[in-house]
Formats: sequence, structure tokens, C-alpha cells
Amino acid sequence: MRVGVPQEIKKNEHRIGLTPTAVREYVAHGHTVLVQTGAGDGAGFTDAEYKLAGAKIAPDAKTVFADSDMIVKVKEPQKVEWEMLREDQILYTYLHLAPDPEQTKGLLASKCAAIAYETVTDRNGGLPLLAPMSEVAGRIAVFSAAETLLKHNGGMGLLFCGVPGVAPARVAVLGGGVVGFNSARMALGLGAEVVVLERSIPRMREIDELTDGRVITRYSSINAIEEEIVKADVVIGAVLVHGAAAPKLVKREHLKQMKNGSVLVDVAIDQGGCFETSRATTHEDPTYEIDGVVHYCVANMPGAAPRTSSEALNNATLPFGLALADHGLDALKKDKHLARGLNVMGGKITYPAVAEAMGMEW
Ligand code: NAD
Repeated sequence: MRVGVPQEIKKNEHRIGLTPTAVREYVAHGHTVLVQTGAGDGAGFTDAEYKLAGAKIAPDAKTVFADSDMIVKVKEPQKVEWEMLREDQILYTYLHLAPDPEQTKGLLASKCAAIAYETVTDRNGGLPLLAPMSEVAGRIAVFSAAETLLKHNGGMGLLFCGVPGVAPARVAVLGGGVVGFNSARMALGLGAEVVVLERSIPRMREIDELTDGRVITRYSSINAIEEEIVKADVVIGAVLVHGAAAPKLVKREHLKQMKNGSVLVDVAIDQGGCFETSRATTHEDPTYEIDGVVHYCVANMPGAAPRTSSEALNNATLPFGLALADHGLDALKKDKHLARGLNVMGGKITYPAVAEAMGMEW
């Protein structure tokens, strides 16, 4: 199969669909890989590295789209991209179609087969192509919190890790899933005192076992949240209720009771955020302050680490991508988890939540 990798064109997106390491695997399976010149620059992968891995370098996106049977990307296609897609092509990337009717119509018009990373499943009911980005975001949340706690960044002037004789930060993590556990581990590693508030008892048992009880777990009741946020120097929001907006666990009136110069990091901001006062920010202007509490609500945290994020994403996407390249759409018949990734094909919506969002009966 001819596999094409265009440069990402969404603002501030520096990740790339295939790393040179992944290209080598496709080439070893007998496929031809066409990479747009300069597409890996933002993540630190040069054309020379792609050539060494066996890729051909294309002068522009138009050539990549015209000469490929499958397009591998990171972000949802933009208008100029979906206009280049064809009926005989597979698109393999994050799509997030439900809140994006314009893109959905564009993909329907192209008649391509579009496979969304975010709806591919695994045998434990997880979302294996979302998890790597949650791991990155959960870890970045702690670095960002530590930076924001410093005086010149608006924080209370506390050194996250403390020093001998002076206590480190106390961190409350709301939600102990992939993001929350990664935040907790990072914060623990930097010497913080960490409490995770969860609703899932099996998950709290798991966190307790995995950290030898060094991370405190508490059932996420209103009482527990109110008690913990006033003690915390940092609160990290990492809750997810599947298929719903994030619950607002910290309300505006809570802020006045929190420490002056404490930091809220709302990783769940892409689902609306779990603090009532959250609004999405960017890496260029990541924070704002309300009632003395500094809010950090960057909607695309993994974007700060495009190299690590591209590699982590490729580790997860590679097996499914190779199956698609080896077998075409027959790969969907062989793997029900990959089949769940199919959102659009031949001008029809093939995923229930997207159909419902578009007001179609399913
Ligand atoms: P996950 O499903 O692995 O974990 C969510 C956890 O929240 C679950 O363990 C669940 O039991 C828990 N939970 C649900 N309701 C709760 C409540 N009331 N109190 C406490 N815990 C509760 O999800 P995840 O992969 O960790 O993602 C968390 C959020 O981070 C999602 O909204 C995701 O979209 C977002 N995210 C954001 C970025 C970013 O750049 N901002 C990047 C990756 C993920």
C-alpha cells in the first residue's frame, strides 16, 4: 500500500502521523511511505531521517494526498485536506467528529473511509489511542503546576519539591484515571504529598497497591473535595465521565477558601473542565487568576512535547496502522476493536455517537 504522511496544518500542532521509526516498520512490511518535506521538523525529525528509514519525500501535501492509498495524520483534517480526500482512500487520525458537523460533511462528501483514533477500543474497554496523550498530559500537568507555583508566574512562591526542613507542595488530584494516575506518580516522584480523589473503588485499590500506599486515596464526595482543596497548594482536575461534560467539582465559592496563590490545573478542560471557573487557555498564555487562585487550563497540553507525544502516539497507532496497510479495510473484519474506529465510509456515517450528533437516526 502507498501510505502518505502530510505536515499537520492545524495551528500550534507540531506532532506528526508517523515517526521515522514507524516508517521503517511500514517499509519492512513492503509498503511505500511518502512523507511531505519538512513534516517532521516540529517534532525534531528531519527529511534525512525519514529517507534513512526508507520513506520517499514529497514536495507538498497535494502530492502526498494524490499519491497515497492511506493518509496517516494526528489532528482532524482541515477543509483544504478533506477536499483532497478520495473515495478509495483510508484516513487514519484523530477526528472528534461529534462536535464538528462541518468536518463530518466534508468527510462524507469525500466518501473516504475515515478511522478515528479516539474510538478504537481495547479488550479492557479502554481507548488505547487516547491513553498515550493522557499519559503525556498527566505528567505535563505536574511540571506546569510546579512552574506556576513560582512567584514570577503568579503562584504563592512555593518550591514544589520543598527542601530539607521545608515541606513540599500538597497536591490534590481529582480523578485517578490515566491522567490522574500519571499526575500522581509525577508529583510523588518530585517529593510532593499527594491525594487522589476517585469514585471508582477498584481504581483506588489499584492506585494504593501500585504506590505502596504512598498516594493517599479518598472517595470523591463533596465533603472530601471541600476538605482537600483548602489544604492543597495544587489541585489537578482529571475526571472524565464517558460521553458527558466534566462535572464541576470545584465551584466559584470554593476559591475564596483556598490558599492565596494556589494553582488549579484543569486537564479536563477539553470536556468543559471540572472547575466552574475554568476556561480554555493556550501554551502562549496559559494562566489567569480568579480570587487569588491561579488557573492553568491549556486545552492541548501534549502539544508542548511534540517529540515525546509523536513517539508515544506512534507506539499505540502502529499495530492498527500496519493491519490497515497490510489488509486494507478487510483489517476491520479481523479486529472488532479497530472496526470501532470507523466513523465514516462511502459517504455514510458508521459510528452511532456521530450519527446522533448529526441528528440522524441510528
Ligand atoms: P479516564 O477515563 O482514564 O479517567 C477518568 C477518571 O475520572 C476515572 O477513573 C473516573 O472514575 C474518575 N471520575 C469520574 N467522576 C469522578 C468524580 N466525580 N470524582 C472523582 N473522579 C471521578 O480519563 P483520562 O484519560 O484520565 O482523561 C481525563 C480527562 O483529561 C479527560 O477529560 C480527557 O479528555 C482529558 N485530557 C486532556 C488533555 C489536555 O491536553 N487538556 C489531554 C489528554 C486528556
